[in-house]
Amino acid sequence: MITFRATGLAITLSLLTAVVGYAQKKPLKIKVTKIAKNVYVHTSYKYRGSTKFPSNGLIIKTRKGVWVIDTPWSDDQSNQLIAWVKKNLRKPIAQVIPTHSQEYGLGGIRAFLAAKIPVVSTKLTAKRAVKDGYPSPKPILQKNQMIDAGNVDIQIFSPGWGHTPDNIVVYLPKQKLLFGGGLIKSKVTKDLGHTKEAHLKYWKRGLRTIESKFSQAEIVIPAHQEWGNMELVEHTMALLDRKMNR
Ligand SMILES: [Zn+2]
Repeated sequence: MITFRATGLAITLSLLTAVVGYAQKKPLKIKVTKIAKNVYVHTSYKYRGSTKFPSNGLIIKTRKGVWVIDTPWSDDQSNQLIAWVKKNLRKPIAQVIPTHSQEYGLGGIRAFLAAKIPVVSTKLTAKRAVKDGYPSPKPILQKNQMIDAGNVDIQIFSPGWGHTPDNIVVYLPKQKLLFGGGLIKSKVTKDLGHTKEAHLKYWKRGLRTIESKFSQAEIVIPAHQEWGNMELVEHTMALLDRKMNR
């Protein structure tokens, strides 16, 4: 009886392992969510153990083409994004802008370059990308710049070293939408995540600048998990305080 039970358990366990193993190998699919007029959030995933961890970026439809802020995690998911734009927006992607050099900012750069889509960044992000083993984005983006995309203004702003030395944010004045990338944490995030490349004191100062400069923002999108409003900036500052006072 005992032997039988043990065998049953072993079979159950090996079945479970097989199922989990299968789930891990299942290809990841991007999700696209319309969030404002002409603006979509693209969410891509990476497995952390057996759970999928999400990362957000933007797709902005304009008269001059489509702008993509941050690539999905991988080339495969970037190809899914390229196909989604082609099918749903029927306009070419004018530029891809990684907001910092990390895997969820430009992990899919090779897919865009292979599709002959320009990837542009600040000089610092391009330099760091090459150091991290990626192809270089074109280093033509200024740290503080308004991109005139016809009917949509896309504002690029560098608050200085925060989450990484090169992190920038993107603001859409008409939509009152702020894309904070790795600089801004979602409400469900209880710590700052990886801070190896961060400068905590400057990060907080940068968030203060963002708070006053983009006080009009109604939608605030962090790199990971759920978006919200300017409370996310406050929340990130509280996380910084907690870490600095530890
Ligand atoms: Zn990051």
